[in-house]
Amino acid sequence: MKKFFLFVFVGIGILSCAQKAKVDLLVYNATIYTVDSKFSTAEAMAVKDGKIIDVGKTADLQNKYEATGKLDAEGKFIYPGFIDAHAHFFGYGSSLQNADLVGTESWGAILDVLKKFASTHPDGWLLGRGWDQNDWAAKDFPTNDKLNELFPGRPVLLTRVDGHAAIANKKALEIANVKAGDKLIGGDIEVKNGMLTGILIDNAVGLVRRFVPPSTEAQTKKSLVEAQANCFAMGLTTIDDCGSGFGSVELVKKMQEAGELKMRMYIMLSDGTANYNWAKKNGKLKTDRLNVRSFKVYADGALGSRGACLLEPYADKPGHYGFLLSSQQHFDSVAKVIYDLGFQMCTHAIGDSGNRTMLKIYAKYLKGKNDRRWRIEHAQVINKNDFNLFGDYNIVPSVQPTHGTSDMYWAGDRLGAERVKGAYAFKQLLQQNNWIPLGTDFPVEDISPFKTFYAGVVRKDAKGWPTNGYQMENAMSREETLRGMTIWAAKSNFEENEKGSLEKGKFADFIILDTDLMKQASEKLLQVKVLKTFVGGEKVYESK
Ligand SMILES: [Zn+2]
Repeated sequence: MKKFFLFVFVGIGILSCAQKAKVDLLVYNATIYTVDSKFSTAEAMAVKDGKIIDVGKTADLQNKYEATGKLDAEGKFIYPGFIDAHAHFFGYGSSLQNADLVGTESWGAILDVLKKFASTHPDGWLLGRGWDQNDWAAKDFPTNDKLNELFPGRPVLLTRVDGHAAIANKKALEIANVKAGDKLIGGDIEVKNGMLTGILIDNAVGLVRRFVPPSTEAQTKKSLVEAQANCFAMGLTTIDDCGSGFGSVELVKKMQEAGELKMRMYIMLSDGTANYNWAKKNGKLKTDRLNVRSFKVYADGALGSRGACLLEPYADKPGHYGFLLSSQQHFDSVAKVIYDLGFQMCTHAIGDSGNRTMLKIYAKYLKGKNDRRWRIEHAQVINKNDFNLFGDYNIVPSVQPTHGTSDMYWAGDRLGAERVKGAYAFKQLLQQNNWIPLGTDFPVEDISPFKTFYAGVVRKDAKGWPTNGYQMENAMSREETLRGMTIWAAKSNFEENEKGSLEKGKFADFIILDTDLMKQASEKLLQVKVLKTFVGGEKVYESK
């Protein structure tokens, strides 16, 4: 017996002095949701050189490792860092520099925000973003009369929350030389009684926006750093930026190399000749923090502004079908270019016709089962006969649960009772490939991943409406929703072997939450707080 104790004692002594492996960080005393294939939990995690080298029990890992940094999680809850599979990081950054019109409840409230904003930002274009007439008592589009009165000499452009419509004042329309009766493809310039109202839909917004002077590199950098800080505070550690130019890619790469930007980025190049040429010349770009191997294409507009392309007319606008933003030949030809480059195609498609058009073009190139992971962004309204195309061709629906709960008040008006059943059908889409990436589309929606989680699982607004949830046959389970925000989002970026779960060999991108997302009462999910955020084992956020 004595001999046995001696043996054990010596054994521990050797382990603790000579054989304990050195690590940079030991996290312990936690409930770690690893989000591995078994959805297992652990207590502790060892990190070295930015990666996880071990996951297990607190006592075991404390015995095995000598850590430079120790983090006692005090019984809190650790999850993989969230991945937003669909966002506009640059757009969000620049929106932080413009008048914030999100949540304004009337046209008058917008004018008040602008007056205040203009007094502190006196020069150049007056830009704002985030208004939504569906939130107002009077749900009609506004006209620009008051903008012309308030700002006669200063151009004003206010983008709608979905980015697919805007209102411009007279000065801005003059600069852009937009006239009543002008026609264009994939857009609409609203005219009432022969006069421009200032409302611009889809491609018409670009007629004015192209005259807005581009921000300087210093301004862009500042906006990205601000965007990053807000994202880290929400537990986001990877952002999919859905559609930027190669210049933005190069800026992000430069900032990441200089340590100015720590966010991991998956950047989709926008559908444009210069970007295709860049991709042909450079091929795919992959570093630990940056992945560029896809193109973002727009099939149609948004449902709110009736730009989404439908198979049958809008229920609340007879004879109006919405429209495709480019010709079918264009979509077909870029699909071929993208396929030949070995890149991923990611297409914004909202209406059932927009979706069908793209699904058929995808099918033509993908031919059958494949691992190209071509994505349909939003996949918002799907005809009941088209769901199977996602599974048959392994097309990835990339969806945003908060779109469902933002649009639920009026989606039925646009689509009618029957057609709306195929809208925001996340569960049905998940079942096509048995996985689905989730995102927010910020700044169209708020950046908060907790809102995504709540909308995905509970399908109610923040006030708990509707009582029984919206089209609950399409609610996802908590596990599915969490997977959609982590490992499945990583998979949609071809990154499931390096992130999205807390397993040996993966990046130590993780967050500590104050309460357990998997067990917290539904009505309290929106109050869950991030305590700390880590990227590659480095703390990038801590709550005050
Ligand atoms: Zn988007």
